[in-house]
Amino acid sequence: MQAGIYIHIPFCARKCSYCDFVSWPVAAGDERIEAFTDGVCREIEIVARVHAASAPLDAPTLFFGGGTPSLLSPEQLGRILATVRTHFRLAADAEITLESNPGTLDSDKARAFRDLGVNRISVGVQSFHDSELRALGRIHTAEEGAAAIETLRAAGFDNVSLDLMFAIPGQSLESWRETLRRAIALRPAHISAYSLIIEPETPFERWEREGRLHRPDEDAEAEMYEETIATLCAAGYEHYEVSNFALPCRRSRHNQIYWRNEPYFGFGPSATSYLEGIRSTNARSLSDYLDGIARGERPVEQSEAPSGALAMGETMMLGLRMREGVESARFAARFGIAPEEVYAGPIRRLSDAGLLRAEEGRIALTDRGLLLANNVMAEFLP
Ligand code: SF4
Repeated sequence: MQAGIYIHIPFCARKCSYCDFVSWPVAAGDERIEAFTDGVCREIEIVARVHAASAPLDAPTLFFGGGTPSLLSPEQLGRILATVRTHFRLAADAEITLESNPGTLDSDKARAFRDLGVNRISVGVQSFHDSELRALGRIHTAEEGAAAIETLRAAGFDNVSLDLMFAIPGQSLESWRETLRRAIALRPAHISAYSLIIEPETPFERWEREGRLHRPDEDAEAEMYEETIATLCAAGYEHYEVSNFALPCRRSRHNQIYWRNEPYFGFGPSATSYLEGIRSTNARSLSDYLDGIARGERPVEQSEAPSGALAMGETMMLGLRMREGVESARFAARFGIAPEEVYAGPIRRLSDAGLLRAEEGRIALTDRGLLLANNVMAEFLP
């Protein structure tokens, strides 16, 4: 079996005001990090034993996400990596990504991570304006964001991705342009640019309800998105997914597994796996997660097996996120029927509206469809 591997590291130095990811604020040396490290290694063993019984486990990608994985010590990260290598055949050219935040990775640690085999780092810079970073509740300044990229380069990382955010409270089109300019000047291999989403049960959601959060309106947000595409493409970045841009040959291989709706293992609290047609999600609470593992069980909280129609709809929805769209032959090989046949009605309607194009064996969003991506994708769900 071939599948990507995601490992969720559920700790951060401080909780950002907009974040609903499963992560807990910790100080350096917090004993929960060590308990988690032992637990996740045991989870890898338990899960691998079940799946390896039928076929060897080949992993082309490994992604440490979070949370803030760069809070782990090199010894802890090394232990998790060694466990993965024991139970999976990690490809010789595997993409091994680690998410980090400015202020959590000095040059010694970056070199140690590099020596362990991490070959791609994603840095949560978000903005190059201190006032916007403060508004988001980030722990770092704009200068520290830029310095983090230089530190990683000096440590030997040539595949660095930078995360940016737009539609931040108080942000103007001009300040977003400046953030894009500074990002491009650093020449990272990859840039992710997401708009701020207000998630339930976050301080941002409460402040918005109380009328204390002043965000750019929908038109301004759309303008920022169009500016992002124009600016990054003019600077030589390929716009390969709704929110992702890459220099040649630098797309995220791991995220493409998600967008192609292909199998992946997920380890750690709240992590999702998609294996043999079953999507399962681990317990969110650290104690429930660790208790399950201590009993020798997979710490799964919920699971579902998307039916044929749902699995096809999800494959379309995820695949349309990529600019290259859904490859008809790949879809037909998987489901035994061509997407043009299953979705003849929506494809005709959306093509007539100029939102979709179905040609040369692919179905993809047009530039106009991109701006209405969520509405277009919803047309394919049962
Ligand atoms: S650093 Fe990332 S994961 Fe951690 S609280 Fe902030 S947004 Fe959430």
